[in-house]
Amino acid sequence: MPVLSYVHPRFNAEQCQADIPTLRWQERLLQCPRCQSQAIDPWGTYHDRPGGKRSWCHGCKRTCNDLTPTLLHQRKRSLPHWMLAVFLLCLSWSSRRIARELGVQSRTRYHWCWWLRNAAVSYESDRHLAGTGEADELYPIAGNKGQATQGGPKLLGRRPRGRRKQYEPGRGHDEKDRPAIMAWVSRQGAVISQATRDCTVKTVQKAADMAVHAGSRLSTDSASSSRALKGYMHAFVKHTPQEYARGEVHEHRAECLFSLLQPSLRVFRGLSKCNLPGYVGFLQFLRNLRQQNACEQAERILRAALAPTIARRARRGECVKCLDHFDLLHTAIN
Ligand SMILES: [Zn+2]
Repeated sequence: MPVLSYVHPRFNAEQCQADIPTLRWQERLLQCPRCQSQAIDPWGTYHDRPGGKRSWCHGCKRTCNDLTPTLLHQRKRSLPHWMLAVFLLCLSWSSRRIARELGVQSRTRYHWCWWLRNAAVSYESDRHLAGTGEADELYPIAGNKGQATQGGPKLLGRRPRGRRKQYEPGRGHDEKDRPAIMAWVSRQGAVISQATRDCTVKTVQKAADMAVHAGSRLSTDSASSSRALKGYMHAFVKHTPQEYARGEVHEHRAECLFSLLQPSLRVFRGLSKCNLPGYVGFLQFLRNLRQQNACEQAERILRAALAPTIARRARRGECVKCLDHFDLLHTAIN
């Protein structure tokens, strides 16, 4: 369905409330979220929430509704606010711009966007690539943006880097404020991107073992850390003598993924190292669902946000932490 015809009637209170039972219970058994009893009966409505229905659980003798206890439970903002925020997040908007369009405060939008990104990333935690794959790495500039606990500029013990400063030559690593992003792209379509502290032989081997099935065919460039990969049918091209493809051996798809990733990261106007795994994981989610439009992607995120287990993990930031296997500095997002 074209997005325009979809968006217009979609974001009103009645419609959003009517969508919630479908999103929550379509793939799950209707049961009490507290005691998992299926003995549930209708128990009136809410005067302040049109269309909202309350239920009574005979197991734990308590009331519940379709939002108990999910990411959207007992929120001050209405359901249309949340649903529109998810939709705009799938269009790769920054949280600051979403806040401006929705009229929510800076702190609120920060939490919302991280909870929702975490919910999206929960779909990606068990992904593995099979068949023929390609790999490449990128070193984006990422510092300590927004990390001052006392407010104002953070005391770094050095001169600020400055957002426009050119980086030092050579490969990046965490201490140069240039952590690595590894991309693993299957020629069958799926992608995996991982934010790592550096790009040493050990890190690349660990990243490969987590992303690609052992014994798969793999094409990379001639970087020493990629050449040392073990456990794969591995071939590489040498970019120094201008060799970019040799028959089936090339990494065009991995380079293409970075050409899509870089503009998406530029939206944030400067990156923080501790937020990088979350951003990269969310962009991986969007890329793997590229056949769907933003409304369908938003529905998937809402389904995850309405699952109590995922909602609890998303609120604690655990979904992103489980992608963060490389000790990249990561703070809890609560
Ligand atoms: Zn119950």
